[in-house]
Amino acid sequence: MASRCSTSTTDSGLALMSHVDTEMLAAQSADSSSAPAVAFITLGCAKNEVDSADMLSRVREAGYRIVEDVEMADAVIVNTCSFIQEATEESLNAIFELSGLPGFDSGERKIVVAGCMPARYGSQLEGELTEASAFVPCSKEDDIVDVLTELVGRPSAPGGIESSCDGDVYPAAYAKISDGCDRFCAFCAIPFIRGGYHSFPLEQIRSKVAKLVASGVREITLIAQDTGRWGEDFTPRDTTAHLLSSLAEEFTTTWFRLMYIEPVGVTDELLDVIAKYDNVCKYLDMPLQHASARVLKNMNRSGSLEENLALVACIRARVPGITLRTTVMVGFPGETEEEFQELLTMLEEAEFDYVGAFAFSPEEGTKAAKMPDQIDEEIKAERLQEVRDLADAISFARVATRVGTKQQVLVLGYEDDGQLYGRAMCQAPDVDGVTYLASGEVGEVVELQIEDALLYEMEGV
Ligand code: SF4
Repeated sequence: MASRCSTSTTDSGLALMSHVDTEMLAAQSADSSSAPAVAFITLGCAKNEVDSADMLSRVREAGYRIVEDVEMADAVIVNTCSFIQEATEESLNAIFELSGLPGFDSGERKIVVAGCMPARYGSQLEGELTEASAFVPCSKEDDIVDVLTELVGRPSAPGGIESSCDGDVYPAAYAKISDGCDRFCAFCAIPFIRGGYHSFPLEQIRSKVAKLVASGVREITLIAQDTGRWGEDFTPRDTTAHLLSSLAEEFTTTWFRLMYIEPVGVTDELLDVIAKYDNVCKYLDMPLQHASARVLKNMNRSGSLEENLALVACIRARVPGITLRTTVMVGFPGETEEEFQELLTMLEEAEFDYVGAFAFSPEEGTKAAKMPDQIDEEIKAERLQEVRDLADAISFARVATRVGTKQQVLVLGYEDDGQLYGRAMCQAPDVDGVTYLASGEVGEVVELQIEDALLYEMEGV
């Protein structure tokens, strides 16, 4: 979604590997030492992380060695984000930095540019980005092994099948339930990058989840460009509510969390499923983008201040205690001061637990980029700061109200300073902070009494 693709690189941007990658490194077969070595750099959102994990799995099963250090790799796959200009620049910087390293500067070691950037810019890139040896857009990522075969040769023996008992598994993971979007919000380039909406079959999702659960994963976050539309492209149609209840019923000791659901997909049926199952997180991430009916209409979206507030009230009534996250955008073309004030009113009255805020950026190829009355960058920055200050104040107050409550917390691991941390059901991965605790086994769910809260973080015993 437009406002969900935050970038998540390390400072250098060159050694980023998700927990899934590390897990797969551990499962690498011991006799693969002569096979070509491949490293991954993943930029962008959780959806890209999932795509990288899928490519990595194929590459590993074909017999390539997966290495963490890019300087040890014969080929590096850079899975790019290109959702906004800033993300494209970050992806380009990672490629330029890589191309300056020994072996890459001479072309002996190969750079494969995958994901959103080649999907968005297509053949234009091939003439301009000469540092790359190959381009693999999102729709062609299944062909990654063929691309590597051409660039660095094929391993003499296939690799091992993914181990399901590495003993060092990070207990939380993402699972993608669909891809693409054809809502064409006026500011968003995703439909041009990812294509039309297509749900993944239930059996495919179930088998992915079963594999994750068997490997020790205890929390699975279901993601898509819009998770609320799952199954509407099937004959007969199916629903996200059905998918979620099927998974919750079969995998009873695993938490399921739904992210990125457009307001139109929030049905009573879905809310009832969220309320019913103990292992479904009472949590919704619903990007509203704005409160003004006129701005929303120009965005090619629906809703108004009153409708949005009514929806929030309805969700809270149907799922008491639910944690709500939203995303909003300031500085859309033509946004007046009054309309901006409507947005602030919505944030004040709805009291979301968490808010992601972004300033509009005119993305090439989108309708909004060509709209008149573009807002001055300085005004955008001021409005963004005002939204962030307000949202932070509300979030900190809401997090503080959890002090004294009991929360189920999934123990995730140790931070660099040795502090044990986990995540409560009210904290989504990567965006909402964590909960610190004194003792617990990684992978177990413990009940904590929350004793303190500091900004977004909580601490319990
Ligand atoms: S609904 Fe689709 S077009 Fe609209 S912001 Fe989300 S991904 Fe973009």
